[in-house]
Amino acid sequence: VSSRGCHMIRGSQIRDIMDSKLNVLFDCDGVIWNGETVVAGAPEVVTLLKQQGKRVFFITNNCTRPRGSYVTKFIRLGFTDVAEEDIFSSAYCSAAYLRDVVKVEGKVYVIGCQGVVKELREAGVTIVEEETDAPTGTIYDYPLDPDVKAVLVGYDETFDFIKLAKASCYLQNNDCLFVATDPDPWHPLRGGRITPGSGSLTAAVETASSRKATVIGKPSRFMFECIASQFNLEPSQSLMVGDRLETDILFGANCGLDTMLTLTGVSTLEEAQCYKDSDDPERKDFVPDYVVETIADFIDAYGE
Ligand code: PLP
Ligand code: CA
Repeated sequence: VSSRGCHMIRGSQIRDIMDSKLNVLFDCDGVIWNGETVVAGAPEVVTLLKQQGKRVFFITNNCTRPRGSYVTKFIRLGFTDVAEEDIFSSAYCSAAYLRDVVKVEGKVYVIGCQGVVKELREAGVTIVEEETDAPTGTIYDYPLDPDVKAVLVGYDETFDFIKLAKASCYLQNNDCLFVATDPDPWHPLRGGRITPGSGSLTAAVETASSRKATVIGKPSRFMFECIASQFNLEPSQSLMVGDRLETDILFGANCGLDTMLTLTGVSTLEEAQCYKDSDDPERKDFVPDYVVETIADFIDAYGE
């Protein structure tokens, strides 16, 4: 495989690349929006690509919302043509994995938020209901459910010692599966703050249980397989657009896709260049084929 270019491109160069592509996979945060703020021009880009006959998919490691709630968010941010079927989140794909791949029988212990819980319920996967009036006291005071056959860890702002203790108790049983929604270490918040990501919580459970989680989200290939199985995607005809080299760009490389870094999110051109200049062959998969300032550059590509 020849090394990837990290080429800064615009205008007609974007159009030339798109000529050989049928599918565009957009990461969401840092590409389409930043938190609750739309990236300027993003709704127009989606419409334009669809008018050009492209199939557009959204692929996010953010497990906090069910698919239906993403549709609402897209509409609120000005998108007019995004369907629920085109949105693949780590919560939706985790539910698909537990139901269709490992066909879990029994209950799932969830560390996560509403997005994960709702997607599991919609997939018909049974979860352990949390006691509403949890007893205070030691770990001995908390019941363990004997029907638990899997632990799923995702982003959870109410993560605490008891959840960590319970998850690691369940995972003492080697027949209990260990799944994580995504490996993201942290996410940028407004005002220079960050929030720990699912990967941080998963690392705690991995340490406490001496187990390794099966990771569903990018850069694992599973989310691409999810989309491909429903829409019959050919990797060579697909472009992955993302803002984070270690998740989105590596994901594209893992799935055999051409990759494009956009500079509206986490990673910088300098970081991409650093990976390109590195002697470590493993780092080459972090190098994007192409770099754009923003996906709004697609508008110029098709203008006049
Ligand atoms: N998970 C959480 C909890 C997030 O807040 C974010 C970004 O805001 C992500 C994951 C990453 O989402 P994406 O894959 O769309 O960049
Ligand atoms: Ca992102």
